[in-house]
Amino acid sequence: MRPVVLCFSGLDPSGGAGLQADIEAVAAQGAHAAVVCTALTIQDTRRVYGFQAIDPAFLRQQADKVLADLPVRAIKCGMLANPEVVAMVRSVCADHPQIPLVLDPVLAANSGGSLADPRMVTELASLFAHAAVITPNSLETRWLAARDNLDEALARLHELGAKAVLLKGGHEPGPMIRNVLSVDGKIVQTSQWPRLPHEYHGSGCTLASAIAGGLARGLTLPVAITRAEVWLQSTLADADLPHADGQAIPKRI
Ligand code: PLP
Repeated sequence: MRPVVLCFSGLDPSGGAGLQADIEAVAAQGAHAAVVCTALTIQDTRRVYGFQAIDPAFLRQQADKVLADLPVRAIKCGMLANPEVVAMVRSVCADHPQIPLVLDPVLAANSGGSLADPRMVTELASLFAHAAVITPNSLETRWLAARDNLDEALARLHELGAKAVLLKGGHEPGPMIRNVLSVDGKIVQTSQWPRLPHEYHGSGCTLASAIAGGLARGLTLPVAITRAEVWLQSTLADADLPHADGQAIPKRI
């Protein structure tokens, strides 16, 4: 069968982000997504209204059954909601160190609404050492590192244990978006993308899951990232815009 990506992610009922983004993005890379749903959110394409996390012991049983049953070749983490869910994922990763982890350190939606318990800013760092790559945007990088200067913040994420960081520049000003892949503190790849006209709901989930799909299929990290970035651009260029003043939903399939 196709290689499997085990996704730990939240449900966004608008279908733009979260586990639906993961399923579609992983499938588009020729892999199969198996999803452990960490939280239910209340949100639309404009904002987040609330969320409820699921019992981590229950989630662990789901993950164990899938890992015992299917050829899981990558793990992808999106919304983990609270430190108890992080601890559960950490123990899954420790039990399966051969499976590469793509960690999207979700703290807030692109609309700005919180998707994480405030303790998560420090807690997520405990997963860094398990990850093949972490994919923070520049806001998350500053929050996770507790540094304003972006270069210093990136260096700090490595000090906190991250081997590879894909720093996404979409929240920085300017007509071009610059993404940087830093491995062991050295920049090994950069890419630039024209800024598209809208705000997008679930673009981070889409990119991280596409990278995980590529890794599951055996691509190297830099190649998986480049392919995922190129594909993400096409999903954003074709995105559905439900309201002129809201966020667009990437068209992944
Ligand atoms: N996970 C869930 C469940 C979400 O609802 C969201 C955003 O709305 C995210 C993750 C992060 O989304 P983005 O890809 O826009 O950063």
